Amino acid sequence: MPDFSFDNTYVRDLPGFYTAWQPEPSLNPELLYLNLTLAEQLGLDLTEYDKTALAELFAGKSLPEGAEPIAQVYAGHQFGHFNPQLGDGRALIIGEVIDNQGKRFDIGYKGSGKTPFSRGGDGKAAIGPMLREVLIGEAMHALGVPTTRSLAVTATGEQVFRDRQQPGAVLTRVAASHIRIGTFQFFSAQGEHDEVRRLADYSIARHDPELAAAENPYLEFLGAVTQRQAELVAHWMSLGFIHGVMNTDNVSIAGETIDYGPCAFMEAYDPNAVFSSIDEQGRYAYQNQPRIAQWNLARFAETLLPLLAEDQQEAVDLANQVVQPFSDTYQKCWLEKMCAKLGLELKAESGERDKAMVEEWLELLQAQKVDFTMAWRRLADAAEGQPTGLQELFTEAAAIDAWLSKWQVRCDEEDSTDTKMVSEQLRENRGKAMRAINPWLIPRNHRVEEALAAASNEGDLGPFELLLSALEQPYEENAEWERFAEPATPDFTARYQTFCGT
Ligand code: AMP
Ligand code: MG
Repeated sequence: MPDFSFDNTYVRDLPGFYTAWQPEPSLNPELLYLNLTLAEQLGLDLTEYDKTALAELFAGKSLPEGAEPIAQVYAGHQFGHFNPQLGDGRALIIGEVIDNQGKRFDIGYKGSGKTPFSRGGDGKAAIGPMLREVLIGEAMHALGVPTTRSLAVTATGEQVFRDRQQPGAVLTRVAASHIRIGTFQFFSAQGEHDEVRRLADYSIARHDPELAAAENPYLEFLGAVTQRQAELVAHWMSLGFIHGVMNTDNVSIAGETIDYGPCAFMEAYDPNAVFSSIDEQGRYAYQNQPRIAQWNLARFAETLLPLLAEDQQEAVDLANQVVQPFSDTYQKCWLEKMCAKLGLELKAESGERDKAMVEEWLELLQAQKVDFTMAWRRLADAAEGQPTGLQELFTEAAAIDAWLSKWQVRCDEEDSTDTKMVSEQLRENRGKAMRAINPWLIPRNHRVEEALAAASNEGDLGPFELLLSALEQPYEENAEWERFAEPATPDFTARYQTFCGT
């Protein structure tokens, strides 16, 4: 077995926050996916182990030395309704490792069998959804978005029962930690404020050690979690990512995107886009994500109130001072990202004007149902004096032409302050910078489904592997992968549905 050099602080420091539990051994595990780059980053040398040994390891059949598998307990607001008892119903954390940069990560299984928190579920996962988590999560990582990662997927050799029988799988997930807003809520809801304090102390030591010495470390911690959420959601919005199930048990206090269930990327720009089959009210639609993030943070703040100040009113006032500015913080993160996508530098004096320009651009995309990813990408060509590709995406020329003239004036203004460079060079630099932030490739829903169907129904991993290698370089145009960059038909997108907890 490879040497993980586990150092399990959660197990050691937080008894009562989990149940020690063993994975259900798979009958006949087969390795489907292994992320060797990530393994190397984590200091795991897997090269000398054969496929059978690795399959047994990543199916939970044989645990590495030092593993102490646990199911974490947590609660959570699901679609706005509080559930006081959730917890890892089909996941186990097997231990913590330190990567080659000195960063600590949890390694865990998903789909490794029932736990005391399974609540009637089977504790299992199917191949399709686990490979989907690999594709979308690894794409998010390549796009630069903080996210949990996928280290391995094994087929278990068993069938799981969903709407139909499907081959079972175990995903090995890597996360900065699995502490969620819901973890705090579990103890807070039971009035166990000392436990909340222990969890907060642990979280600060793990994620924000520099705050430990602050006058009010819990308030600062609330601020740090708020800041990370603002940045994360702004990043999602800038790429057209829809998480799909922003329940408080799916919000990591480390600020990583976690729980790739019903998520999807938007195609034609539509602020109301929602794909999750159970999200009938559109609570987690694209444009609601910032508002929901703030709602979730308010729930988080509530759990910390007894730690913030002895006087209840004072505690509430302090929490409000941190959570209420979320919308401004988010707006700033969003505008920074959007301006960079437009090839502009956000400055105080031009901020309002740039914001109006972003909004106008988005309105144009929406009105003419233009593909979000392609429009931004082709704007980089326009920055280099080649607007035709972009103009072709719009059905009516007049509005986009008028917008482009305004944008060009703004670009020229910015360039006029740089007298050292000739304009040709400035244009090229702008185009290049825009291509480094506006991806050529995102995981297109139809291509993801194609790859998963081949893997799940025919046992053919070829399309999955090809798509994954393309998604690992989302900012580079590659003629070979042209078909992955093509939008789905509007009809496909209109009918497309994604699912939770599959
Ligand atoms: P999710 O929608 O994946 O965030 O899951 C919500 C809750 O349901 C978590 O507590 C999960 O552990 C649990 N859960 C999801 N799928 C299963 C399953 N197949 N068996 C047991 N628990 C599950
Ligand atoms: Mg979850």
